[in-house]
Amino acid sequence: MSGDEEARQREQEALAIAAEAGIHRLAIPTPFMVGRVNAYLIEDSPLTLVDSGPNSAKALDELEQALAARGHAIEDIELLVITHQHIDHFGLASILARRSGAEVAALDRLAPLLARFGQEAELDDLFAERTMLRHGIPPEIVTALRAVSASFRAWGSAVEVTRPLADGAALELRDRTLRVLHRPGHSPSDTVFHDQSRAILLAADHLIAHISSNPLLARPLDADGDYSGPRPQALLTYLASLEQTRAMELALVLPGHGAPIVDHVALIDERFRLHRRRAEKIRRLIASQPRTAHEIAQELWGNVAVTQAYLTLSEVLGHVDLLLRDGAVVEQERDGVVRFQAA
Ligand SMILES: [Zn+2]
Repeated sequence: MSGDEEARQREQEALAIAAEAGIHRLAIPTPFMVGRVNAYLIEDSPLTLVDSGPNSAKALDELEQALAARGHAIEDIELLVITHQHIDHFGLASILARRSGAEVAALDRLAPLLARFGQEAELDDLFAERTMLRHGIPPEIVTALRAVSASFRAWGSAVEVTRPLADGAALELRDRTLRVLHRPGHSPSDTVFHDQSRAILLAADHLIAHISSNPLLARPLDADGDYSGPRPQALLTYLASLEQTRAMELALVLPGHGAPIVDHVALIDERFRLHRRRAEKIRRLIASQPRTAHEIAQELWGNVAVTQAYLTLSEVLGHVDLLLRDGAVVEQERDGVVRFQAA
């Protein structure tokens, strides 16, 4: 068997274990680079769907077909659970809730963001714009990216959370208890759901097998309106969250994209090594001469640092935060633009 076939077989085996626990992966199409997003149908009472996919006719159509293949209709969904604030995960939620009358559950601190999606997305863009200019991204690129972001907004939609969940709370279904755990980092609102008796974790984008879950720089959750406080340290937050997950006894992790994860400790250790290596690479670049975060991103990724300017900026700043914490680099600001230099 080829490596690919082996991987596919392992994936099918892991999905079979999930199915035995009544959890079925529905891979929903998105227009984004990441490809399909995983929604999970939990055949329990209430009939539960974890994440919805984006707000598009194609996503709705495929979701309907995937549900029908299991003998359900959208109208049958009784509980909709949202894992975090990214539109590929919740965009369709308002339509599903309207059609099914399902309760909508999400982390309590995420609820206001979902309820005011349009205004909040505008504030997110403002925050991103300021951050990009401050870290050396040219104004014309910032303007272009804003237009892209505004056009993506149609794949989201405001939704009212009828069942706000506290961090640590228990979500009781007939056949299982899901512990609600806030694990911020990839986004400020990342929430994972832990079935302790089956050692299964619904992890969304907190942990993904085939890509490292980029900790995107975002406004803090409770930021009211136009946020201009200290820069949130997304990677440091993320690494602390990963430590917590690493300490858990898990047989199966069901991620928001791609295949299930059966050895989360090995994968998390691999991520820790990746971030250490990347930080060291960035430390060397800064040691050779002071640079803005955007200049560092260009050194590392060339033109991708332009087309994916915010993503790569988040990646660089996350690792610079590690170096700042360790006292290896310092931040210098001149005319509103920040450069990093060796300490
Ligand atoms: Zn995400």
